Amino acid sequence: MTWQCDAACRDADPELFFPPTDDDTSLTVARHKMAVAPICGRCPVATDCLRWALDSGQDHGLWAATTPTDRRAIRRARTAGVPDPVADDEPMCPACALLFPMPAVDGQLCSRCLERRAA
Ligand code: SF4
Repeated sequence: MTWQCDAACRDADPELFFPPTDDDTSLTVARHKMAVAPICGRCPVATDCLRWALDSGQDHGLWAATTPTDRRAIRRARTAGVPDPVADDEPMCPACALLFPMPAVDGQLCSRCLERRAA
């Protein structure tokens, strides 16, 4: 993960990004989220960070100032074919929300879904 070398949080306290609870309704998580927001807001690799957290299924911690609940919502939306404006600024397959490894025309199915459709 070379993007981590440019992370704005490299010298920040790691405990800020890992609240003792993942309960989004708690004041503790709200405080942590408010504390990391300015750091993530100026981070040059925030998109890479969010994509990595989504794709690797991180269930704990604040990644790109998103909570586990935020990321589950993004994953659910992706599954429904709704791309995230930050993480998915590249074309995605409308059937499975898989990001295309190569530039693709919006609305085009990925190779996996094309194979599934042909079978
Ligand atoms: S977006 Fe936030 S958590 Fe992610 S690398 Fe940047 S500063 Fe760290």
